[in-house]
Amino acid sequence: MANKWYEKTYRRILFDMHTNDWDSRFLSKFDPVEFIDCILATGATTVTVPANNHVGLAYFPTSVGYEHQGVKGQDLLGQLVTLARQKGLNVIIYYCTVYVDRYWENYPEARIVDPQGHSEKLLMNSQGTPRRFSVCCMNNPAYRNFVVNELTELCQRYDFEGIWPDMTFWPTVCYCEQCQKRYADEVGGDIPRNIDWGDPTWVRFQRKRQEWVVDFCHLVTTTIKQYKPEATVAHQSWTFCGDWLFGASDALSKEMDFLSCDLYVERYPLSLYSKLFYSLSENKPFEHLNTWYYPNIHEHVIQRTVSHMKVIAFSDIMNNGAAIFIDAVDPLGTINRENYQHASEVFAEIEPYEPYLGGQPLQDVAIYFSYDALFDMAENGRSTDTVFYNFDPRHPVPGPTAHRNAAVGATRALIHEHIPFGAITRKTIDQLDRFQIVVLPNIAILDETEISAFRRFVENGGSLYASKYTSIISYDGHQQSNFMLADLFGVDYLGETEEILTYVRPATDYQELLHPFTTLHPSTMRDTQVEVGIHSNAQVLAMISLPFTDPKGTLYASTLADPPDKATDYPALIFNPFGKGKVIYAAGAIETWEHDAQRTIWGRIIRKLASRSFYFEAQAPKSVEIMLYDHLEQNRLIIHLLNFQSELPNIPIDGIELRIWIGNKTPEQVSILPKDEVLEFMVANGYVEVTAPRLENYLMLAIRYK
Ligand SMILES: [Zn+2]
Repeated sequence: MANKWYEKTYRRILFDMHTNDWDSRFLSKFDPVEFIDCILATGATTVTVPANNHVGLAYFPTSVGYEHQGVKGQDLLGQLVTLARQKGLNVIIYYCTVYVDRYWENYPEARIVDPQGHSEKLLMNSQGTPRRFSVCCMNNPAYRNFVVNELTELCQRYDFEGIWPDMTFWPTVCYCEQCQKRYADEVGGDIPRNIDWGDPTWVRFQRKRQEWVVDFCHLVTTTIKQYKPEATVAHQSWTFCGDWLFGASDALSKEMDFLSCDLYVERYPLSLYSKLFYSLSENKPFEHLNTWYYPNIHEHVIQRTVSHMKVIAFSDIMNNGAAIFIDAVDPLGTINRENYQHASEVFAEIEPYEPYLGGQPLQDVAIYFSYDALFDMAENGRSTDTVFYNFDPRHPVPGPTAHRNAAVGATRALIHEHIPFGAITRKTIDQLDRFQIVVLPNIAILDETEISAFRRFVENGGSLYASKYTSIISYDGHQQSNFMLADLFGVDYLGETEEILTYVRPATDYQELLHPFTTLHPSTMRDTQVEVGIHSNAQVLAMISLPFTDPKGTLYASTLADPPDKATDYPALIFNPFGKGKVIYAAGAIETWEHDAQRTIWGRIIRKLASRSFYFEAQAPKSVEIMLYDHLEQNRLIIHLLNFQSELPNIPIDGIELRIWIGNKTPEQVSILPKDEVLEFMVANGYVEVTAPRLENYLMLAIRYK
């Protein structure tokens, strides 16, 4: 791609315009000139403008779609594109797919069909029962043609840097005629109606759902690139942040130039998804969108605080992502200029750092994330009737130890422990050697590529942490009688505790590892654990204890809690040397241990797996996340420190002690960017030791070396 516009800018705004047209006042006050002036005043360099909306109405003269009656004949999109380009802005066109009401109304045969055979408008995250989300099926041939034709019109008529196709994921499990036909043609038989992650029939259907998302996105991407080979395509990447229902896969990330998503999540999932987006994006930076309304896109008036906007934007650039704010037009077409003023304050703060972003991330631990294992084994046996649309409050939430939540738990622990980490998927599994420790957080399904890559990684000296069901189901959905990685774990699968609350107690020689927990007062696991038998050369670090009674029953020892009693011989934590490397297997997903007393245990376990010094160490509060990049061509390390307290604005932090691994290189200068103010430093045991200046929201330090 010749036009790498995205490499030059981290400040962007997306304009949402999901306005209906039943009232002639709608959009009557919209002024494209005022809007573009507002964008320019923020310091943004890129703007995303809408070609259509969720109502399914187009803002340009279309011969295939439905033009918005309020602005018919005005070519609002054309005006915005022309004005933005005249002012030197990069222009991205928003194009909504699937969630388009007008097409849904006019073509009932294109509607998503639920397991009962109904096609209702869907609930969304707002009060009452506003069924206003209509979803079309991406397998419907006529709808696919409609999308191709509308995109063709856009590409032939306008000049732009890229297109942002929205909603290219599954809203729910679809049983429409076209899905049934496609399934029968490609697989044979009927679409299954029971969820069972150990049943090849169900898993094969899920693989098809993943394939069909890739297929639809491929259709959209190739249609655009056919006319605009230099334009970027960034599909809405919420797909990569939900559970299995969305149908994400590693392969999907190849259908876009970079990942781009409006996330409204807490600090820890934001950190994890940022690292996943970095890893999955074909080009950098990835994009993180956020409304300047609080808490999310379903609120139209309440303003996010500027301090919150700043912390999010600093989190974005620290992860080498671009910060995008979303505005949503008032139905009459007016906008709130104050929000643009707030964005300008944020952009003014991140702009000076832009020349120093990027580089090679230096990370010791990789959280491995699998798009084939985004489920909860507790779902097994449920009917697809129980799976509601993915933004419906009734959609079942995976349990706290399911893979995605376990990965978030590992993220939280690694941030709190200030251990350098990133995230990877099968897409970049050939880069395992960049890390010294790989974490497999309760990943039930792994494929042959992954199994052999992890085996090779450990044989060659890498360290692996794996928990609970990891590698117990094959890629095609066959439940195994033993872990596929049993030789690495040093254990064999035997079963699972009946008890839904269990304990982890230290083995005699590992009391310190589990401190402050003891044999009498072991560490609580609010989940079942897997029962395993141990191989001869593996070492037991901890064992499973059980409460007096199973909390599911009525008999109890103590009214308000389920205190520990039975000290079983089943191992809970196992250390196994394998090849030149080492492995720790946990029978429960203890990376989800949230409380400080428990989290530090997991921190010790990760440190026990280390085979060399970490890239950095820090004495800093838990609100601080640190990232480190090497800029090889400039001979410098860049250190990012983000303060992300739960209550904002941040209370400033003084005296953070940093140790940055420099190895054999010679450090020449440590400075505070962007002003390059020199800091005193020491060198000891291969580390540059420095005390950071006061940290309010964000700090960038540089170490120049030779
Ligand atoms: Zn369908």
